[in-house]
Formats: sequence, structure tokens, C-alpha cells
Amino acid sequence: MSCAICGAETDSEYCKKCEKILDEIIHRVGEERWGAMDDCSYIYPMVKRAAKGELSINDIINAMEVED
Ligand SMILES: [Zn+2]
Repeated sequence: MSCAICGAETDSEYCKKCEKILDEIIHRVGEERWGAMDDCSYIYPMVKRAAKGELSINDIINAMEVED
């Protein structure tokens, strides 16, 4: 399989690098709020940039709050 976010080879839906960032985001926004999102794929490009060090977790959280 390839990572749904960055396209890297992985055994699961996300590679370890993107999964770590997603975990951090979920931890920060809370499972409840995360689960209430219809579609989280709009943050994937931001997660990809965070994996490259171009964005911080904070930047993503802030962008998510704007979306609400
Ligand atoms: Zn990835």
C-alpha cells in the first residue's frame, strides 16, 4: 500500500511519519472532535507539509479551527 497522505510505501493506511503527526493532531483536538469531522482528508496536504518540516502541528490545528 501507499500512504494516503504522502504516498510513501507503507503496510497500513498511513506511513509511520504521517501517522505520528495525525496522532499528535488527534491528541491535541481530542478524539471527540476528531470523530465529529465528516472528512479529515482536507488536512492531508498540511500533514504532508508538516512531515517535511514546513508546517508545525500548531499551524494545522489553527487551520482546522478556521475551517469550523
Ligand atoms: Zn505518509
